[in-house]
Amino acid sequence: MSNDDLGAGAVSTLIRPGDAEWDSARRFHSGIGSPAAIIRASSVDDVSDAVRYAAGQRLDVTIRGGGHSAWCGLPGGLTLDIGALDDVSVDGTLVHVGGGATWGAVAAVLAGHGLGISSGDTASVGVGGLTLGGGIGLMVRAWGLAADQLVGAQLVTARGAVVEIDDSSHSELMWALRGGGGNFGVVTRFDFRAHPLEGVVAASLGIEGDARPVLQTLRAVMADAPRELTVTYMDVPAMDPSAPAGASIEAVWAGSDVGAARAALAPLLALSQVSEREFGHTPYPDVLLHAPEFDPENPMPGFVGGNALVEVLDDDVIDRLVSFRESRPASVAMLRSLGGAYGDIEQSATAFPARGATWFAMAGAFDIPGMLDDDARAAAERDWAAIEALGAGVYGNFTTSTEADWATRMYPPETMARLAAVKREWDPTNVFCRNHNVVPA
Ligand SMILES: Cc1cc2nc3c(=O)[nH]c(=O)nc-3n(C[C@H](O)[C@H](O)[C@H](O)COP(=O)(O)OP(=O)(O)OC[C@H]3O[C@@H](n4cnc5c(N)ncnc54)[C@H](O)[C@@H]3O)c2cc1C
Repeated sequence: MSNDDLGAGAVSTLIRPGDAEWDSARRFHSGIGSPAAIIRASSVDDVSDAVRYAAGQRLDVTIRGGGHSAWCGLPGGLTLDIGALDDVSVDGTLVHVGGGATWGAVAAVLAGHGLGISSGDTASVGVGGLTLGGGIGLMVRAWGLAADQLVGAQLVTARGAVVEIDDSSHSELMWALRGGGGNFGVVTRFDFRAHPLEGVVAASLGIEGDARPVLQTLRAVMADAPRELTVTYMDVPAMDPSAPAGASIEAVWAGSDVGAARAALAPLLALSQVSEREFGHTPYPDVLLHAPEFDPENPMPGFVGGNALVEVLDDDVIDRLVSFRESRPASVAMLRSLGGAYGDIEQSATAFPARGATWFAMAGAFDIPGMLDDDARAAAERDWAAIEALGAGVYGNFTTSTEADWATRMYPPETMARLAAVKREWDPTNVFCRNHNVVPA
């Protein structure tokens, strides 16, 4: 395999094992990959050439945007690294974002224009993977999923053609891109409709003791809260410097009215178990967390657990989630509020599952060798399965699983059938199979 194999006009860098750049090129956010080869594309033409090449050679393609998913760690195949396609430009409230950009870069540009987009919670996460899978962000109740703000895209197809798409020209493909993952082509540019944002209020509230009554109050608060308010409950051990250890509620108010944010959260602030750590204006880019870089000496352990999109956060779900965390020192539990703009979208309007969910729940035990034996692992799986069964669906972006059947767990049958039809049209030979794969109908 050489650069000549890519054909005339190709300017991509093909990197193979043994090349000087190999070790740095195969590193991604949480590990070191072992593909057969890597192409670092720096233009849309590079992407077309690389896709044609991979299709011709029958190489599976791993599209790497922000590099935060487990797909980057799969052995073999061609990794197509589009991280260099990271331009962000603003035209009124329309924002054009390169397919390899990260959310931190997007927020930094938008802040200068008084605009915001609901993305995820972490600066280094890629716009590509997060948006195509849905994108549950810190302002999801104000503006919906990241995918809900997508109004158009430029896409390189499985045949290497470059197409411009929007809802009027390619409505089914746009539908599929809003939650259907990276199945349909390489998105080289995302077009988002951003929102005027005069400021952001952020609050961090510590929780001491039993979290159950606090979460019951949080549930009541969010049932009536203005959609400017989105909250995240987290209980984490001390292992990630980007997140406070212990139990906390992180709240983001999409706007500058500290008084309104405080009034909405007043019932929580009145609880003796809740302490106010921070409450005030924050620059929009600063609400994003900064995840630690991958450290080969100290790799992140695996994770036994899962997530659920929950329609009714009853006491049973709260108890199971808190108990999961309480009974395992090296574990995490998380709840994120949905509803608001997220719930305004009809189920059939996008490929994302479970629009009726009002909360997103996640828990997992870290699979640390010597700490989690087979029995403990089985118990974590069983406890999690009981929580997942109470949900209305699972969110693919928050799993580290690369198992082939995951897409069928994520999508209701009618969504799956529609996705498979779009896949057949745009990627009939399944070149883009390293994702939560939709098999062509
Ligand atoms: C620290 C951390 C924090 C996170 N926080 C959140 C959060 O707050 N909310 C949330 O919803 N999710 C969150 N996630 C999950 C995140 O959305 C997924 O891991 C997502 O896949 C990451 O996208 P990426 O581009 O960085 O990853 P990559 O590994 O580069 O891409 C993942 C997959 O997306 C597809 N893809 C990526 N870019 C493109 C493109 N341009 N065109 C076509 N396909 C593409 C490919 O199929 C690829 O395999 C978080 C993950 C981590 C590790």
